[in-house]
Amino acid sequence: MLARPSTVAERLELFRETAGCRVCGRATGPDGDEGRLPVCFCCRTLAGQLGLPLVPLVAITEYRVGDATHRRLRAYKDAPVAEARERCRAELVAELARHCADPSTGLGAWSVVTTVPSSNRPGGAPAERLVDGVPQLAERHLRLLVRGRGSGGHLQAGRDVFTPDIGVDRAGLADLSVLVFDDTTTTGAAVQSAAAALRLAGARVVGALVMGRALAPIARGTASRGG
Ligand SMILES: [Zn+2]
Repeated sequence: MLARPSTVAERLELFRETAGCRVCGRATGPDGDEGRLPVCFCCRTLAGQLGLPLVPLVAITEYRVGDATHRRLRAYKDAPVAEARERCRAELVAELARHCADPSTGLGAWSVVTTVPSSNRPGGAPAERLVDGVPQLAERHLRLLVRGRGSGGHLQAGRDVFTPDIGVDRAGLADLSVLVFDDTTTTGAAVQSAAAALRLAGARVVGALVMGRALAPIARGTASRGG
């Protein structure tokens, strides 16, 4: 007796291997019996909260809580010893530079890179220290956003979580093609909220680039900042 080629389990396996979320590239899940979905659960949720289609998200690395990549992503900002912070930062900068040198792994053409503001570190996000370590990013780095009135979370995006900085020329935003950068993400909530704030202010956002993405989407404590 021949095995049936199209059981639900086989179809699920097939599209997990061949299809990913159009936004973030992660495997999408089945929606009832509908089969393949174009966008994953997290991205659909965030898009609904923002009332906007999302920008493409590229993660340079993926990590699980507690693995070496995750420890490095924490240590570059939180290690108690300055030497350890600097060593981890240098390793991340080297990885970011390698990624940026490979044209096949990039997003569309962009003129400006900006980072997602930090929730608990006024005066600049740690991610800026990564961007500023890579010359081709540093020379086009502008601090465009500050925290807004809204609050975000791992699966909570909002149009008012970030807002253009008071010194940013809003009329000039329309001329910019922006790459949004952050060090870590879980679902993309923070980078997508940042991208939405820029788009609503008139900028074109080509996509979001993150150093590391947590592999377990809703696990607790996977990132130091919501999203
Ligand atoms: Zn997705």
